[in-house]
Amino acid sequence: MKGNLTGLVDLQKVDKELQALEALKGDLPQQVGKLRNELNAAKETYGSQRNELTEIKKTKALGEVELQDFQEKAKKYREQLYAVTSNREYDAITTEIDAVDAKISDVEDEVLQFIEDEEILEQELANAEPEITALEENLDKTEKELNEKIQATEKEYEAFRRQRDEISESVERRVLYQYERIRKGIGNSVVAEIMNNACGSCFSSIPPQKQLEVRTMTQLIFCESCGRILVYTRKREAVAS
Ligand SMILES: [Zn+2]
Repeated sequence: MKGNLTGLVDLQKVDKELQALEALKGDLPQQVGKLRNELNAAKETYGSQRNELTEIKKTKALGEVELQDFQEKAKKYREQLYAVTSNREYDAITTEIDAVDAKISDVEDEVLQFIEDEEILEQELANAEPEITALEENLDKTEKELNEKIQATEKEYEAFRRQRDEISESVERRVLYQYERIRKGIGNSVVAEIMNNACGSCFSSIPPQKQLEVRTMTQLIFCESCGRILVYTRKREAVAS
């Protein structure tokens, strides 16, 4: 168990080094993620507006064809009016003309609405284009900045990762499990040294009997107040130095 506990002390040192390297990146990883999401959303909106515009243009073209047909029909009826021979015939054609004129008016309204929608969409697309370009440039720049930071610390980072793997392998699985469990909750300060009869992390006092148990470094003992794993390594370091 002694090896396990000193392993945890070493693991914590390495985890703090890794955390410090990670901190050098600042909020660049978050910035990249945020910009990527914004760009995707902008592109998605742009794409669906483009599709919508294509549909409107198609429907508008159909309306224009329809309008032309009705206008020709109306023209023909009006020509026929000159050749009528009876009142009944005149009334019949006039009724037809009224009906066609009403249809023309409806289709004209529809086409006008399509033209209006088209203009709005075209304006929105024109506005979105420089916004998308700006987002792309910003993302590119931020990604480069992040990559430079990653590259600058890559070797050091990898060395600590390897060291971490080696230490992890030397520690019993259940002990490692406790370490990772606490780390998940409170970060890279899992192991606490006993100092001045107290937990070195939360400073709550440790009863003498418990201190003696911790000194032997033969079992997992937790601080009752903060839940950290208690260790005592100063004697070992003193001997070593
Ligand atoms: Zn504590």
